[in-house]
Amino acid sequence: MDFADTPEHARFRAEFRAWLADNHTGPTPDFRDSATEQAFRMTWHRTMYDGGWLGLSWPRAYGGRELSPLFEAIINEELGEAGVLNAVGPLNWLGRAILLFGTEEQRQRYLAPLLRGETQWCQGFSEPGAGSDLAGLSTYGELDGDTYLLTGQKWFCSAPMCDAFLVLAQTPGGLTCFLMPRVLPDGTLNRFHIQRLKDKLGNRSNASAEVELVDAWAEMVGEEGRGVRTIIEMVNHTRLDCVIGSASLMRQAVAQATHHTAHRSAFGKLLSEQPLMVNVLADIAVESEATTILMMRLAGAFDRASDTREAHFRRLALAV
Ligand SMILES: Cc1cc2nc3c(=O)[nH]c(=O)nc-3n(C[C@H](O)[C@H](O)[C@H](O)COP(=O)(O)OP(=O)(O)OC[C@H]3O[C@@H](n4cnc5c(N)ncnc54)[C@H](O)[C@@H]3O)c2cc1C
Repeated sequence: MDFADTPEHARFRAEFRAWLADNHTGPTPDFRDSATEQAFRMTWHRTMYDGGWLGLSWPRAYGGRELSPLFEAIINEELGEAGVLNAVGPLNWLGRAILLFGTEEQRQRYLAPLLRGETQWCQGFSEPGAGSDLAGLSTYGELDGDTYLLTGQKWFCSAPMCDAFLVLAQTPGGLTCFLMPRVLPDGTLNRFHIQRLKDKLGNRSNASAEVELVDAWAEMVGEEGRGVRTIIEMVNHTRLDCVIGSASLMRQAVAQATHHTAHRSAFGKLLSEQPLMVNVLADIAVESEATTILMMRLAGAFDRASDTREAHFRRLALAV
């Protein structure tokens, strides 16, 4: 199999790399607080949107360019190597549920502001009693006119300052997906209460929180009882983005290590010329290349979605 960029991909990569060099302000800092990260994230999202680099795989009707996920993988690879925040992933995960299963009215109302970075969304699935095993979720929704009132506890909500949350809750028809705004249409706060921020081991600037919903107003996304189906494509893209993000970070680590060792001397020579260090650099470069190849192979499987064999490969390899 030939893993080199096609001429089209190579042109796209060169175009994005040139844009990135002109538009980013250096590697994204290691944020320690969520307010600073959030401000940076929103500004950077807007810069990428203005550059025409967001929503590449979205339909044209909703502001996208109808390109394959491979183009987004190329962008993420370049962002990772330059050490710049990935603004592509979260947008894609969350927009996808509405793109695939929202009503036309929901698509028209929500997708453009999401793409422009004017609104931020996140997910509220995990609960104290169920994480991987979504069928065990116990938050429930009661019909209230055309919409629902949700009650329950979400154990992990990153990040609670968002404008809206995709939430799973039980209804008489089974597990259902909802969109829950933080602020109600009349300007008052939804009944969504932050209980505490998680004291996580890492990823600390991401304000993961435990939240309680007490008759929180929400609208259904997709069909009642088909909540898992509504989020599964989004979850698959989340996993692909995790692969892309890890491959990008590895590329960045190789770039930083080779740069550092090419400028640091020890025992009378540059570190990059010390035989043992050459071994170390070669080792991490090979691992990074292998991860990049796997990542492109997986993104390609998303491209060839109608091919049954590729669909099986995607299902198997993403879960790993
Ligand atoms: C940084 C961070 C941010 C997060 N943000 C969000 C968010 O925004 N929204 C949200 O909804 N959730 C979020 N989560 C929660 C995350 O989605 C859950 O932690 C995840 O779904 C796993 O659930 P759990 O922690 O309850 O683990 P469990 O489901 O209890 O699993 C515990 C362990 O057992 C393993 N396991 C589970 N089932 C099996 C099985 N059948 N066979 C073998 N092993 C198994 C799991 O792989 C895991 O290692 C976040 C988590 C982290 C770490």
